[in-house]
Amino acid sequence: MADLGNPQNTIAVLQKHQFHFQKKYGQNFLIDTHVLDKIIRASDIQDEDLVLEIGPGIGTMTQYLCEHARQVVAVEIDHALIPILEDTLKQYQNIDIIHGDILKIDIHKIVQEKNQGKPIKVVANLPYYITTPIIMGLFESHVPIDSITVMVQKEVADRMGMGPGSKEYGALSLAVQYYAAPELIANVPPNCFMPRPKVGSAVIRLVRHSKPPVQVEDESFLFKVIRASFNQRRKTLANGLNNAGEIPLTKEQIEQSLQELGFLPSIRGETLNLEEFAALSNLMKQKISAGNEERE
Ligand code: SAM
Repeated sequence: MADLGNPQNTIAVLQKHQFHFQKKYGQNFLIDTHVLDKIIRASDIQDEDLVLEIGPGIGTMTQYLCEHARQVVAVEIDHALIPILEDTLKQYQNIDIIHGDILKIDIHKIVQEKNQGKPIKVVANLPYYITTPIIMGLFESHVPIDSITVMVQKEVADRMGMGPGSKEYGALSLAVQYYAAPELIANVPPNCFMPRPKVGSAVIRLVRHSKPPVQVEDESFLFKVIRASFNQRRKTLANGLNNAGEIPLTKEQIEQSLQELGFLPSIRGETLNLEEFAALSNLMKQKISAGNEERE
């Protein structure tokens, strides 16, 4: 099969199958062999690896993945692409094409069935409209993952490495830093895609920490606190947490928690780093547990 990283071959496949791009699915297909090589090199795929590809499109990167991995599982939402993938990947025996939505599919089951529960590698040129839910979902669901190497919008790549004080800093920065060490692999201009996206892109690699950099009593509560803190950026942290509805403490108890940690009542969520969010969520969790015990 011809290398789809070559734009002529991509055009031939699109014409052969009379494929129409669906904007709503964030379809920007890669047409640059150098970028494809960089992604493959960065993802460090070994002979025994199972790779999950999110959104294979017409199978451009999938071809490269199949050449390197033991097995590739590719999940594609657009039904029109399924027969195309069956055509462009027909020479490979180590590919499973799944027609489905990556946000709804049971990835744990795939890992169990196809990799005996061992950590997988995720490699993708992501659909940008759902980058955050995909990455947060992969981490928060605790699917055994070794690394994630993905193309994302440049601005999102920047956000992942940010700390307090930058306007890009937010829930995604904290989630990524809690679970992984982000690394920028390459900046990728719009002309490497068909059709060209309006924004710049970047390839990033997230290698999962063996142990999170901070200790928390309840991870899902930490992320509730983080999300609540950034949902209402213009409000003080105490108001943001109080308005969230997910945190069963009174405004006074929230303010008291902040005070106990030495924060001013006017503090905003975006000034706290990961350690401070961890301390705050641990303290609030203790107060919730103490309140529950009193009621029992
Ligand atoms: N991997 C291909 C490439 O690099 O040329 C295509 C990348 S394109 C940026 C994103 C792909 O994700 C599209 O094929 C799109 O149809 C697919 N997609 C969009 N939303 C999806 C979802 N929720 N689940 C699975 N695939 C999705």
